[in-house]
Amino acid sequence: QQKLLDIKDLTVVYKTDLEVVRAVNGVNFSVERGKTLGIVGETGAGKTTTSLAIMGLLPERTGKVTAGEILFDGQDLLKLNKTDMRSICGDKISMIFQDPMTALNPTMTIGDQIAEAMELHNHDKLTKAEISKKVEEKLEMVGIRPERKNDYPHQFSGGMKQRVVIAIALACEPELLIADEPTTALDVTIQAQVLAMMNELQQRLGTSMILITHDLGIVAQTCDDVCVMYAGEVIEYGTAEDIFTAKKHHPYTDGLFGSIPNLKVESRRLNPINGLMPDPTNLPEGCHFAPRCPHCMDICKTQHPPCHVDGTHRIACHLYTQEGGDKE
Ligand code: SF4
Repeated sequence: QQKLLDIKDLTVVYKTDLEVVRAVNGVNFSVERGKTLGIVGETGAGKTTTSLAIMGLLPERTGKVTAGEILFDGQDLLKLNKTDMRSICGDKISMIFQDPMTALNPTMTIGDQIAEAMELHNHDKLTKAEISKKVEEKLEMVGIRPERKNDYPHQFSGGMKQRVVIAIALACEPELLIADEPTTALDVTIQAQVLAMMNELQQRLGTSMILITHDLGIVAQTCDDVCVMYAGEVIEYGTAEDIFTAKKHHPYTDGLFGSIPNLKVESRRLNPINGLMPDPTNLPEGCHFAPRCPHCMDICKTQHPPCHVDGTHRIACHLYTQEGGDKE
């Protein structure tokens, strides 16, 4: 069966008068129908740029996809004109951002905002009354009483606002939902509730999802596949089982997960790794992780590591491609 989303060799560049930054460099990953892909990595790894590229939302003057394909249902989104792209995004692909306040209009009732999202892509030519009924259904779906449709965003708590944002994102019953750190701005207990709700909805509706997160506990609980990004590249990729149970990992992933295996799943946040992500305008030659890597070899400083492939598990590291370099 064809994958819902297939990203091939995607490269995104930001250009200003002063510099050119390669924010995403030759990235490959895919999302299966009805499944959740977790994208993990520190700030600046290229996670959000990748999702903005999928949505066609890169800043027009500075951001540009310079290579690759974004195949959605077999169709390359990069070849579509603006009108076709707009109709796919919002209709078949929706995005939820980290901060619900930036996504909501403070001057409109929440019911009107959900209805507006439906009206934008109203292919079934629903009447006002039918849309109003659907708005109530969506609110119920995300655990908000339908009679609150006449309330304004400021009348809701942070967690409830994010539920409204999710209702808007689901208004057109998208096939793919991209959630960029959807619970980071919320309290821990509310985070768990919102995530449990998203999980349940995703399974009930069969929506595919890309979940961008720093929280490895969330990845373990919700994701079928995992993509670890570093300095604009995918450095490890596999099923959740590959990432959470395999013995071989990219040293960066090892650093993220901590060195004690049975802490991997319980760990809530990324563990700090010594050093900083390299300056994207001045990436080190060879492996971009070399300056921070405890296993760095001579070859790592000069040659970019190829991918070691073991079934569904991919690791871009010389440790697994060099004879005698395996650290197991
Ligand atoms: Fe470390 Fe070398 Fe692997 Fe890079 S390629 S992660 S420097 S061992």
